[in-house]
Amino acid sequence: MEQEPDTDGSLRLTVADIAEKFIEYYWRQALPFGVGGESRLQPLLQNTDQQAAVINHIIAARSQAPGGSIAALRLNTLAWSRLRNRIAGVIRLMPLWKLQTVSGEVPEFLYRQAEFRDDRIRLLPGVPAAFRSFHGLATNLVRGAWVARIQRIPGNREVLGETASLESFLSGTDRASLEPYREILRDHQSARCFYCSSRVSGTGDLDHFIAWSRYPVDLGHNFVFSHSRCNQDKREYLAHPDHLQRWREQNLDSGEELAARFTAARLPHDLERSRQITVWAYGQGELAGAHVWVAGKHVSALGPAWRSVLGVAQLRMAAEEGGGYW
Ligand SMILES: [Zn+2]
Repeated sequence: MEQEPDTDGSLRLTVADIAEKFIEYYWRQALPFGVGGESRLQPLLQNTDQQAAVINHIIAARSQAPGGSIAALRLNTLAWSRLRNRIAGVIRLMPLWKLQTVSGEVPEFLYRQAEFRDDRIRLLPGVPAAFRSFHGLATNLVRGAWVARIQRIPGNREVLGETASLESFLSGTDRASLEPYREILRDHQSARCFYCSSRVSGTGDLDHFIAWSRYPVDLGHNFVFSHSRCNQDKREYLAHPDHLQRWREQNLDSGEELAARFTAARLPHDLERSRQITVWAYGQGELAGAHVWVAGKHVSALGPAWRSVLGVAQLRMAAEEGGGYW
């Protein structure tokens, strides 16, 4: 989702790229979990016999990160690359080759083992497109299987207790760490709602422009400041192309100021990743015949209008010419 496939539909991924995603996904899971008093708090076991090596590495790195913040750890280049190298070492040894092992057979449907060189795998043509199309489905399948596996591990029974909150613990986000984004965007938007342009008198909401349920990533340019009411009405919908036009103006046409403020506040942001995720989400929405949110309870069909807003056609031409995207 975050990287452009090659023209033949394949995609080269370094083990370091995969390690970064591992760290992002497992960071939260390295936190102690428990009910019924602090003495029962401990990180959940992710293996039957002993803790998974990835979790142990992350627990160690987390304890040294200021405030337990992944963003803070990233800023410490040495500590971050040490952790990434450790995780990459684990991935090379185990999950990578197990990933496409089914009942002892290895149907190489994701990548060819023989092509693993320069510490890269090459996802076969069609695989990135399939992941893009079925991202929501695949994510839900994996999450469901993950939660079931963790519940089955005997060593977790004591800490799990009431399990209703397990899924949100495993796949949720730490809301407090997002607070600084809200302040910056509130100021940037002159305390006006991104969606309806009228003034926000209360605290207002930080809205994921591409909903968290569609793609779970917290990056600066995917946030907008809005009324709580507008945020709730929008729910998991994509926003109408008129809203997308304003997102483009705020982030792509004049995004340097915002980027500078995110950097100054040490908040993660990556405009190119956010743009890719937005293009992907609207592309999937168009394919699926999605409805988009206009205002209040009003929705309308998406259609292809979003393409000219994001300049997707121009993007391909520019890429063929070897030029920049914008
Ligand atoms: Zn509003």
